[in-house]
Amino acid sequence: MLPPGGSFIPLFTTFVHPSAQQRVAAVLQSTFLSEGKLVKEFETRLAAELGMVNPAALNSGTSALHLALEVAGVGVGNEVILAPQTFIASALTVVQVGAKPVFADIQYNTGNIDPTDIEHRITPRTKAIMAVHWGGYPCDMVEIKAIAKKHNLLVIEDAAHSPGATYQGQHIGSISDFTCFSFQAIKHLTTGDGGALCALDPEKAREVFRRRWFGIDRANSPTNEVGEREYDLFDVGYKYHLNDYSAALGLANLDGFQERMTRRRTLVEQYKEGLQKVPGITHFERKTDRESAHWLFGFHVENRLQFIRALKGNGIAASVVHDGIDNNTLFGGKRSELSNQRRFDETQIHIPLHDDLTSEQVAYIIDVIKQGW
Ligand SMILES: *Cc1c(COP(=O)(O)O)cnc(C)c1O
Repeated sequence: MLPPGGSFIPLFTTFVHPSAQQRVAAVLQSTFLSEGKLVKEFETRLAAELGMVNPAALNSGTSALHLALEVAGVGVGNEVILAPQTFIASALTVVQVGAKPVFADIQYNTGNIDPTDIEHRITPRTKAIMAVHWGGYPCDMVEIKAIAKKHNLLVIEDAAHSPGATYQGQHIGSISDFTCFSFQAIKHLTTGDGGALCALDPEKAREVFRRRWFGIDRANSPTNEVGEREYDLFDVGYKYHLNDYSAALGLANLDGFQERMTRRRTLVEQYKEGLQKVPGITHFERKTDRESAHWLFGFHVENRLQFIRALKGNGIAASVVHDGIDNNTLFGGKRSELSNQRRFDETQIHIPLHDDLTSEQVAYIIDVIKQGW
């Protein structure tokens, strides 16, 4: 069978708003390509429209994670507790600052870090807990923050999958010490590559803005008469800022963002209803106190390889997206004894969810799945 329209249905697509062509062209025309007023405008809109606190626009989500760890003071000899169910960048940046990722188990029914598996992993070297909102569904932040407070740890959210998500009425990006977003091409809101780092503490936020540009406080380092910018570099900064032509794409893609999120929710409802009682499928848990950003639509499935083949044979992508990352040589080189993560690795699967997906395609995908595998 072929999907409606006849072409393969991918897991992700890249959304580029029709107005982006003109907006980016205007930046190219101006020849001002570096970080300027469009980056500022992009940050203003991220705060106003997505509820991010003090967002600093950066050149990637990985840069956001790295800078968050730096500004949080995580360094050599420290440990950061996180779940393996994520993309490699989450733990890689911990290693980049000289610290050690310590893996805690996930909840089998969400893929998120299990708050009950954190506390016994805390040592005098532990500096932070990193919470990854798998697929866009927010972690148990109340429980995580309580543990962090009790042990004087910082909380860093890897919110690469969850711009626009809310938790107990609060926007993701307004909850923890640091929140990191990604604007990579297949994420909800793309700038080509890009990211944002939100620091709740205004002092830390100023540090983020300074250290994303070499460690120089640009606004307060005027150029003197001989043409030299006046500053004294006193700590390590990075070349992590976003630029104006990427921001122009981001600004274009912010138009209609909420409407696209509403569409995603509608498609997810259609999936959930259509796949409610399909034998062999166990849905993830979804609590009513939080709203996922729905980057992914996933569930647990029996006979996974057959499921993937059956979908592929009918022109539909299906993918695990990521397995647990704890087996990588850099992080120790062996599968840790995390029973939920190991079970999750065996049964999790994700099916298409993106801005180009139609309800007709979703109906077709549901039909194909219902025929069995
Ligand atoms: C995409 C992603 C990142 C990295 O973001 P980039 O913008 O590609 O650097 C980090 N963490 C998770 C969970 C991601 O999915």
